[in-house]
Amino acid sequence: MQKKYYVLDASAFIGGYRPSNPFNYTIPEVTHEVKDINSKTILETAIKDGYLQIIEPDLKSMERVQETIKSSGDVLRLSHVDQKLIALALHLKNQQENVIVITDDYTIQNALKILKIPFKSVLTSGIKQIYGWKLICKGCKKEYSDDYPFDDCEICGSSIYKKRIKNKNK
Ligand SMILES: [Zn+2]
Repeated sequence: MQKKYYVLDASAFIGGYRPSNPFNYTIPEVTHEVKDINSKTILETAIKDGYLQIIEPDLKSMERVQETIKSSGDVLRLSHVDQKLIALALHLKNQQENVIVITDDYTIQNALKILKIPFKSVLTSGIKQIYGWKLICKGCKKEYSDDYPFDDCEICGSSIYKKRIKNKNK
């Protein structure tokens, strides 16, 4: 299986997304947008553990994003930070990486749709760990950790459902 690169915006941290492998990326500005203490702790821990890489998108990706939103009329609603985050996803995608953006922001999601970059929302995807969800495939019953970002089983392709579990360790 090709490894996935997760691009995280501020709403991912605010929604409770917790990076659990070294393939999570964001831009410097996002670290300033995350202000509440819980999200900030998650973010700082991820950086300390080496689970969150902070990088700048290249100029080419930034220009591509600006052209795209200009032609779609969304230019006023996407902040500079949002544009940079989308450019980061594009930047990684251009390096042949398997990218998915974690965001609850609809404007960002719409721009990603136009650019054909996959995304997932934290609040609707069951990846919010504090609730203690377990993800189980309806077909082969494989269990997934709660940061698995897709709706389909990677083994058999059946849909995955959420099961609430008692979280003794947390
Ligand atoms: Zn399955």
